[in-house]
Amino acid sequence: MRRALTLLLATLCMGASAQPGGYTGPLFDAHLHYNEEAWNGQVGPHPLSDVLARMQRNGVKAIVANSRPNDGTKALAASPQTRAAGVTVVPFIRLYRNRADYNNWFRDDTIYDMVQAEYARGTAQGPFRGIGEFHLYDSANANGHVAKKLMAFAEEKNLAVLAHVDDVAIDLLMASTPSKGQKARIIWAHTGIGGAPAARVDELFTKYPLLMGELSYRPGLTCDSGKLCPEWRALMLKYPGRFMIGSDTWVNQRWQYYDELMQGYRVWLGDLPADVAKKIAWDNGASLFGVK
Ligand SMILES: [Zn+2]
Repeated sequence: MRRALTLLLATLCMGASAQPGGYTGPLFDAHLHYNEEAWNGQVGPHPLSDVLARMQRNGVKAIVANSRPNDGTKALAASPQTRAAGVTVVPFIRLYRNRADYNNWFRDDTIYDMVQAEYARGTAQGPFRGIGEFHLYDSANANGHVAKKLMAFAEEKNLAVLAHVDDVAIDLLMASTPSKGQKARIIWAHTGIGGAPAARVDELFTKYPLLMGELSYRPGLTCDSGKLCPEWRALMLKYPGRFMIGSDTWVNQRWQYYDELMQGYRVWLGDLPADVAKKIAWDNGASLFGVK
């Protein structure tokens, strides 16, 4: 009788918080940068062996990689060390050759030409699968002629687009695609770093069936003890197939805290039903890019 009661209690607790010790399965890091200040191929604090060790010890089995310039991504994709570490690289074309490109890419035809050339070349391990991350600090620049051309190009080639933009720019970028957003594969970096309300995220997810939300730096995501805030938990239960996690290693400090970042994800993922946690942690990214 007492054993049955203990079992019942354990089952009830599992229902409330599916994985009390946190999520322990594989992770898909859907927003990773390997920029030249991390390692330029010669010197730097984070050579391939270092970043791969960080992924490996955190159970990160696949990454969306992009870098300024694109050499870091290509090095990650081509290295036998990457395969030895059990990491699959999904390479994206970064739009930035340097810092100045951040504020001008959407109207600079040489960026469009660079993307075409990189896409044609691909990586040693296969074709590029996406474009980005790019930033729009003023959403109106989503209507820049190069931004529009790139959105049409991405949809035509079935490339994903990692976009650090606000909710207004999501609508504008979607409008530039041939399908008017119905077939566009935008991964919304940070799901709105400015903190678009959960209701607005919900509205955009309804409107654009392939829109995905990446969750690094998302304001309002976690509340007490690193657990999900109620409105975000509800959104994930409503759209379990639409969210992904990411490290956003945009500066070297993010590499230094890679363990803590991934552990933080495991804490709140453990607060979700096991099947939803696995989707957000791994399945959504894996199925988007056909990673086994
Ligand atoms: Zn980023």
